[in-house]
Amino acid sequence: MSESVFTKIINRELPASIVYENDKVIAIEDINPQAKIHLLFIHKEATKNVNQMTETKPEQLKDIFEAVLTYTREQGIEEDGFRVVTNINKFGCQTVFHTHFHLLAGEQLGGFS
Ligand code: 5GP
Repeated sequence: MSESVFTKIINRELPASIVYENDKVIAIEDINPQAKIHLLFIHKEATKNVNQMTETKPEQLKDIFEAVLTYTREQGIEEDGFRVVTNINKFGCQTVFHTHFHLLAGEQLGGFS
């Protein structure tokens, strides 16, 4: 797999606004925010998308959601609420093929119905 923009950010070869990091996961501000708070939670060990992550590195799902839990609690985001979204392939509008989870928060989000 060729090196993604997120691997470059993880390796500090590209700049990003890093809001959270541990030994396995990094969270950055999305460059094109779709909500008042729009972050990307990214595992440092790259997979293509969440299906490949689930198939080959299922422990990474726990790493990601533990990071989300820690961050949203620390920042007081949990009580008001937030959304976690991951896009897969063409119809899902995935544009960066290094698994990432969008965290949208900070305001009332639109519903699905
Ligand atoms: P996807 O469309 O794959 O679900 O999400 C990719 C996300 O990465 C998009 O929301 C896009 O704005 C964001 N993104 C793409 N390139 C960069 C970058 O260089 N820096 C940051 N911080 N976000 C990026």
